[in-house]
Amino acid sequence: EKIDIKKSIQTIYDKFYEQAKNKNLEFVLEINEDIEDIYTDLGKLKQIINNLLSNAVKFTNKGQIRLKVQNENDFIKINIEDDGIGIAQENLNKIFERFKQVDSSTTRKYGGTGLGLAISKELCELLGIKIDVKSELNKGTIFELLIPKNFRNDINSSNEMLSVIEDKSTINSYE
Ligand code: ATP
Ligand code: MG
Repeated sequence: EKIDIKKSIQTIYDKFYEQAKNKNLEFVLEINEDIEDIYTDLGKLKQIINNLLSNAVKFTNKGQIRLKVQNENDFIKINIEDDGIGIAQENLNKIFERFKQVDSSTTRKYGGTGLGLAISKELCELLGIKIDVKSELNKGTIFELLIPKNFRNDINSSNEMLSVIEDKSTINSYE
């Protein structure tokens, strides 16, 4: 479906603005004026960005969160950046695994189930989106999405998604 990415991003921003404000975080939005409409699955894209922004808010205690949208040839690049607690290099390759949380102690500070990024990664695969992460402990984290402007899903992505969700319930715990 053809989507107005500027408008969609603005709506997501407005939703998270309040959450950021409640934690006294500054939330910066940068959208290049020349961003055009794109073809993708808006519902899934929103879910991905929502997961990343909710992490950014959750794992940041002071400073900024930034949502940046720019053109990059046949792609739209979206960065979700934060000045939060960061992720140690040795954990960077594990955070996309189901139920993986860097702090897995029962007394851990941050809530959640450790599924947000695993689901986001699966959704990115369905939409042909490349997802990357860079992070520095105690400095912050940058997630980068490279979204193809003309993604046509001829495969039956809704069926694939169902199996992703069914899979989830068969795995009970993670080290
Ligand atoms: P859920 O998303 O299911 O509510 P969660 O946020 O803990 O739970 P994920 O979103 O999958 O799970 O993230 C996995 C782990 O990666 C987090 O528990 C956290 O340790 C780390 N992480 C993810 N995003 C960030 C971030 N922006 N800053 C610091 N750590 C992060
Ligand atoms: Mg999360």
